[in-house]
Amino acid sequence: MALVVQKFGGTSVADLDRIRAVADRVARARRNGDQVAVNVSAMAGTTNQLVEWVQAIGGVHYDRAEYDAVVSSGEQVTAGLLALALQAQGLSARSFLGWQAPLSTDDAHGKARVEASDVASLRKSLDQGQIPVLAGFQGVSPDGRITTLGRGGSDTSAVALAAALGADRCDIFTDVEGVYTTDPRIVQKARKIERITYEEMLEMASLGARVLETRSVALAMRHAVRLQVLSSFTDVPGTLVVDEDEILEQQVVSGIAYSRDEAKVTLIGVSDQPGIAASIFGPLADANINVDMIVQSVSADGNTTDVTFTVGRADLERARTILESNQSDLGFRRMDGRGDVVKISVIGVGMRSHAGIAHVMFKALADRDINIQAISTSEIKISILIDEVYTELALRTLHTTYGLDET
Ligand code: ADP
Ligand code: ASP
Ligand code: MG
Repeated sequence: MALVVQKFGGTSVADLDRIRAVADRVARARRNGDQVAVNVSAMAGTTNQLVEWVQAIGGVHYDRAEYDAVVSSGEQVTAGLLALALQAQGLSARSFLGWQAPLSTDDAHGKARVEASDVASLRKSLDQGQIPVLAGFQGVSPDGRITTLGRGGSDTSAVALAAALGADRCDIFTDVEGVYTTDPRIVQKARKIERITYEEMLEMASLGARVLETRSVALAMRHAVRLQVLSSFTDVPGTLVVDEDEILEQQVVSGIAYSRDEAKVTLIGVSDQPGIAASIFGPLADANINVDMIVQSVSADGNTTDVTFTVGRADLERARTILESNQSDLGFRRMDGRGDVVKISVIGVGMRSHAGIAHVMFKALADRDINIQAISTSEIKISILIDEVYTELALRTLHTTYGLDET
């Protein structure tokens, strides 16, 4: 008898019919002899609505503990409804909220980190032949307050649950049939990947492919949880996230991700002297603003230079204010900030042993007259920043160029 954690995302539990369909699926697994623990998201759209309400009443600087009290409620509803739908099928089922599992987190409200999951009560439920249904996305802080794990965080609670229970597999049911070579909603020729390494999946997720939340992949990698991404709308095998040695034929480029969550800042006429980079990025770091790509142009006159870098789009205004207030120290002439950029990344562990991947990328984009505004690389990925209007064209072009198109 295998122990499987099944996680259902927002579109999979979007209405009562979908919740009944999920109950059918869980019941089938149970009748096939598997032990099943379930983890659910809120109904599609619910969390967005709750966030809007918090912002409408709480303003820009709302209390984050109360944010968690409000936005965690969507998962409470689906956990209870799914338990009822399972009971209607004659199965024993019980819902559990984050604090009842308990899934312990730190106290970083709105983006809490899972610290431990004791799951004694869930194990007891399983031992009694019950199906525990955990409300995803939520945990409990050291002082007993409800926390949430950040948007998309029910993937993480599912993996934490699978790790704590020592489950044989964690199935992430969603609205596409697996992890694709790129977002199938943007590139029609995207191909479903049968197996992807943890490392590649981690890069794909952190570079924008929202099919799995980044922390969930890191957690699965650390605890060797077998992850499968598959559709709750069909009955076909999905994508397995595995160790590198479980992949026989490795592609050089496995996938392409994009992120619109970027903004570009350019400081023009910065004095070109030692220590200047530290004085630009120090105050941003102090304000908890992450800087990603950085380009410094060659100084034309030997005295001044231009520095371009990217920050999260949500941080653009804050970054501007901080830099403006330091203008006299930094000595730049002018600052440009724009949010209409996108970061596109090609990812593949095969890049470690293959040269020329970047050149192919730059050439393909040049042939389409797409200007590259910044570049960053690591061992298994290359990211470029371009004008947002070219997102689809660049994705389609690169997808074809690297031979990823579905034939
Ligand atoms: P859920 O609500 O089930 O958690 P999400 O919306 O968070 O679902 O994630 C699924 C979505 O991720 C898909 O609908 C798809 O548009 C998007 N996506 C982005 N990149 C990829 C990719 N490489 N493979 C599959 N889906 C992707
Ligand atoms: N409901 C939460 C969100 O929309 C968590 C999740 O779906 O994973 O972000
Ligand atoms: Mg998701």
